[in-house]
Amino acid sequence: MTNATLQAVRERLPDYVAAVTTKSKGGFYTCPLCGSGTGPNKSGAFRIRGEKFRCFSCGRGGDVLDLLGEVEGLPDFRDRARRASELFGIDGSVTAAGAAPVRRESRPEPEPSFIPDEIMRGSLSGYGQNNFAAWLVGVFGVMRAYEVANAYSVGTSRHWPGACCFWQIDEAGRVRRGKVMLYNAETGRRVKEPGNMIAGVHWLLEMPDRKPPACLFGLDLAASSSKPVAVVESEKSAIIGAGFVPGFIWTATGGKGTLSRKMLEPLQGRRVVLFPDLGAFDDWTEKAAGWPGVEVSELLEGRATAEDRAAGLDVADYLLREHGISA
Ligand SMILES: [Zn+2]
Repeated sequence: MTNATLQAVRERLPDYVAAVTTKSKGGFYTCPLCGSGTGPNKSGAFRIRGEKFRCFSCGRGGDVLDLLGEVEGLPDFRDRARRASELFGIDGSVTAAGAAPVRRESRPEPEPSFIPDEIMRGSLSGYGQNNFAAWLVGVFGVMRAYEVANAYSVGTSRHWPGACCFWQIDEAGRVRRGKVMLYNAETGRRVKEPGNMIAGVHWLLEMPDRKPPACLFGLDLAASSSKPVAVVESEKSAIIGAGFVPGFIWTATGGKGTLSRKMLEPLQGRRVVLFPDLGAFDDWTEKAAGWPGVEVSELLEGRATAEDRAAGLDVADYLLREHGISA
């Protein structure tokens, strides 16, 4: 493209804008990139000045080739130039009809940032420095502790001395999220001093903040088995459940409030039993009412004593106690 042609193309900015979007007010347009009609201070969003455009809502700006590249998803300058010649014609005669195939939804959504496999795999060692693993050995013995930790890909993190990492691996084997946590090696209880000692791997690695949606901890195991699926709140409860009650595949929501129908979607057609901790029974029962194939266990709710309630017994506590292990 010669400089003269380039100049001719740049001058077609108003024609191109008119073809891909509509006027909003006061000489402004609705932004074809972000769809906004108004910028800050209720002024218009998208304006043309000479050969340049700028959107005061999404902040993007440039010349007609930049705009066309964004609208059509063409990062390469040569592709943009070729498309511009096509649209505007050699003699620069562009019409709204010529630009009609341009679709403003054509900007692809950014890809979610899954955690690279090698990062997860790199964490699967160093168990001598992993308080949770050490505690697990005390509960199950070395062999069974290893089997269970291995099945759930429990990692070791150096973020805090003794920390572990629980990875959310989905039905396709993709690592969606990682949660670094610190436990006491003797009691198996979470360390909550000086802070709550939980950190997300996306944040720790300064990965782009496009976290994929959370999935059940243990979803990968559930997907590759036909056993009924137990759903508990904490990763620790899932792992303890797996060690003591192998008739289920044990999964965890990672929090009381995070249970959702969407999270259970990959388990459609399976028998799914929710095991709420004490205090979450009503909440989970209400939420799961009418979810096909999903039942709520009254295991804890039905047997809890007043002391259990006061202590906020969870599924892990209950199973450990049943097996004569005091936490
Ligand atoms: Zn915009």
